Amino acid sequence: MATIVIEGAYLATLDPERHEFIGHVVAEGNRIVKVGPGPAPAYEGARVVDGRGCLVTPGFVNTHQHLYQWVTRGLAADATLFEWLTTLYPVWARISEESVYVAARAALAQLALTGCTTAADHHYVFPRGGGDLLAAEITAAAEVGLRFHPARGSMDRGQKDGGLPPDSVVEDRDEILAATEAAIDRWHDPAPDSMLQVVVAPCSPFSVSGELMRESAALARRRGVRMHTHLAETTDETDWCRETFGCTPLEYADQLGWTGPDVWFAHGIHFDDAEIKHLGNTRTGVAHCPSSNARLGAGIARTADLRAAGAPVGLGVDGAASNESGSLVEELRHAVLFARARGGPQSMTVRAALEMATLEGARILGRSADLGSLEPGKLADLAVWEVTTLPHAGIPDPIAALALSTPPPLALLLVNGRPVVEHGVLTTADTAAMSAEVARIQAGLFA
Ligand SMILES: [Zn+2]
Repeated sequence: MATIVIEGAYLATLDPERHEFIGHVVAEGNRIVKVGPGPAPAYEGARVVDGRGCLVTPGFVNTHQHLYQWVTRGLAADATLFEWLTTLYPVWARISEESVYVAARAALAQLALTGCTTAADHHYVFPRGGGDLLAAEITAAAEVGLRFHPARGSMDRGQKDGGLPPDSVVEDRDEILAATEAAIDRWHDPAPDSMLQVVVAPCSPFSVSGELMRESAALARRRGVRMHTHLAETTDETDWCRETFGCTPLEYADQLGWTGPDVWFAHGIHFDDAEIKHLGNTRTGVAHCPSSNARLGAGIARTADLRAAGAPVGLGVDGAASNESGSLVEELRHAVLFARARGGPQSMTVRAALEMATLEGARILGRSADLGSLEPGKLADLAVWEVTTLPHAGIPDPIAALALSTPPPLALLLVNGRPVVEHGVLTTADTAAMSAEVARIQAGLFA
């Protein structure tokens, strides 16, 4: 069992008292065994990492992504969500096991290189004959070495049923439910140190039938797994729900059983005061994706109000087709800046944004007993950021350096006690070869 001692670093523990100090953190195997100020005691045979000039944070949790989109970036560059989706659906209808595997490896590598240790993915496009796409991304996550929460997504409301996606990318409801339950049987590991947990995730109100939403919720609760969907992303969606169902997206979701501490919504931008109170009372989570929301001009989520109401808010990069950088640490900065642009200078502190990236993300995924803070007994998922380089040197508060300046170099990333990034380089796979594969697959998709 390998022991890693990180010494002399500034630690943002995110423990219940939010202790911060210059000190040490010790990982033995896949668990943190000691955290404290000052030097660490001697551990025979341990690897000692000099953390001077570094900030150590818990590993970041990405709560919303579409890994497959890494090979379809940069399209519909100036479009609204509905325009962008209708441009991309026909391209996505051509994805395969190979393209999903290549895209997922690249997107997960970028997440690791930007501080992410646990990644949730929402995969909802399953073209007929496309192969086992969930298996492809699960293989990719195991190779890159991240803790992974794949959400088995779905769409059953095609254009012939009044939905937005073409009929070629939607599936039959019974097939979806059977495939989702099969994915839980095959892959879901409920253990406290699990590297793989399956989520049930119909795509959105405008691409999924009410029956599928209701039956998906019943399935998830019967099997004790989490539930995820897109909700309240744009005003177009709110208008569509009012015309189609005579209510708001949240009222619709609520009627179908889609609120509660086991549910989290991607985006959650267009909620009124009463809806925010309801989300807080039900402890329903939101994955805040500020870069994607800005890229598509969707709006700015009321993160401060949601948090004040008691709703957990995590961060997400969203798919790379609407956030080409796919960098989780950038979402931390954007969460701070956009909250203040919307709600004024008091609406989001840099430490609140760090909570969203770590503790709150872990809570949303149901992993807060084991992830999200640096405490003895928690899993050894952590990021060591260098904050003495040109963009950060002289910023006295390391957390301000992380959240307000450009992303700092990542000296080390541990996932389950294993070094996945060392000195800014992925240790588990060759990113140059990955980039060449992405270009090849992208060219093939558009040939
Ligand atoms: Zn999304």
